[in-house]
Amino acid sequence: MLKTIKVQGSLTIFIQMTKLCIKCKKNNAIYLRKYSGELMCKKCFIRSVEHKAKKTISKFSMIRHADRVAVAVSGGKDSLVLLNILKNVLGEVNSRLIAITVDEGIKGYRDESLSIVRNFCSSIGVENRVVSYTDLFGLSMDKAMESRPSEKISSCSMCGTFRRRAIDVLAESCEANVIATGHNLDDYIQTFLINLFAGDIERIGWTYPEPVEYGASGLKKIKPLMEIYEKELVIYAIQMNIPFQAEECPYKDESIRSAFRSHLNNLENIHPGIKYNAYNSILKIAKKIKYTNDVINREHSRCSVCNRESSGDICSVCRTLNMLVKKI
Ligand code: SF4
Ligand code: ZN
Repeated sequence: MLKTIKVQGSLTIFIQMTKLCIKCKKNNAIYLRKYSGELMCKKCFIRSVEHKAKKTISKFSMIRHADRVAVAVSGGKDSLVLLNILKNVLGEVNSRLIAITVDEGIKGYRDESLSIVRNFCSSIGVENRVVSYTDLFGLSMDKAMESRPSEKISSCSMCGTFRRRAIDVLAESCEANVIATGHNLDDYIQTFLINLFAGDIERIGWTYPEPVEYGASGLKKIKPLMEIYEKELVIYAIQMNIPFQAEECPYKDESIRSAFRSHLNNLENIHPGIKYNAYNSILKIAKKIKYTNDVINREHSRCSVCNRESSGDICSVCRTLNMLVKKI
């Protein structure tokens, strides 16, 4: 018997109730991976997800022996699953792993996820450091939303600009040289489509997963879950009893990303495996753009306000802060 469960919006999972796992042929299957036809028990499913992440890490040389890895953990399923998997991968050398968390300052939303992260980190023995927008930029996301000059300025793009900077600063202060984020395969395809429809070809090149050093301290960003479907991360978290925040941020804007997410989930339901095909094509396109456009060797100047690396005279963080402060 096949049980269909709607997880979030258009995201659906299929749970097989009565048949045996096709891998171990011993236990009852709990999941049908529709695009490959594999029926898996809990143990084989967990192993398969972890194996995929490890394969991605080694395929793109994401983590090297002496690296210190800062995992950006928000309290959502993806980042907590990533931390759990990396803890297993780097397990015996705990000093190489640290969880970093950004407190955007969103009343009634962020407090819950901060405590989820703190408790999970302490349960698996990984240090957790937190930085807030207020500490770094002098204003919380609540304040930024009050000061936003127009509703046309997207809350998530403003917040994303601040978050990327906060993660870099926190990782540097932990002397980490690798930042790992929980982006999954669905995120990767959506990002490609967003860049494609915005005509931003250079950014497509940047998404190719071989890590490139940036900034004065030579940070690298990696996405070890980028070859795993979002729904499999939900199932992994549930099966491993990893608590995560399911509640949505009150400022989440109905971006084009949500529209692509919903379309892609509907397509996948009708044509299982279509996301994988798209992922493989996008990877080839991104690689071509990255290495033929010389995107990686492009010289960056420094922001004339904060002195951090910037593609223009003033970086996007300082431009956004300037706009908000003027309004205040
Ligand atoms: Fe920030 Fe948007 Fe995420 Fe809310 S949903 S935390 S505003 S990026
Ligand atoms: Zn700046």
